[in-house]
Amino acid sequence: MDHKDCIFCQIINGDIPSAKVYEDEHVYAFLDISQVTKGHTLVIPKTHTRNIYDTPGDVAKELFERIPQLARAIKMTYQPDGMNILNNNEKAASQTVFHLHFHLIPRYLESDNSFNFTWENNTDHYTLEDLQNIANDIHLNIDNDNLHSS
Ligand code: 5GP
Ligand code: ZN
Repeated sequence: MDHKDCIFCQIINGDIPSAKVYEDEHVYAFLDISQVTKGHTLVIPKTHTRNIYDTPGDVAKELFERIPQLARAIKMTYQPDGMNILNNNEKAASQTVFHLHFHLIPRYLESDNSFNFTWENNTDHYTLEDLQNIANDIHLNIDNDNLHSS
């Protein structure tokens, strides 16, 4: 279902121009206007979902299925030294466009300052028992997932 106010739905429909990399029945891929690094690509489902939380498994399956091929195409084109695949969910995680999308961000060692994040290591704060308790808590809610069957 497309959402009139959603800029990515408008891009899929061609109402807003985009530099298209790939399109099929389920998926649309295009260059991110911000080009954090050269070749920075967004991959989106044609079905509008807000983010990962409201995305049914079949929509995710079609989307993820195409990501390795798109990543390899970027790699073949620009020979980056690496690639980050990033998905932001909700404002606290820096989501600004509320239509599910994955960023494919090629990384080039010579321009490594164009993309940064800090990744704290808190290994010392958790025992193995703490970790198992957290894992058990999450596991319990797998059965409570309403979208699981779709
Ligand atoms: P988010 O922060 O939600 O993970 O990422 C949204 C991304 O969409 C941003 O990187 C932003 O540059 C990109 N973006 C926003 N508006 C447009 C647009 O109109 N065209 C294109 N190609 N990218 C857009
Ligand atoms: Zn949308």
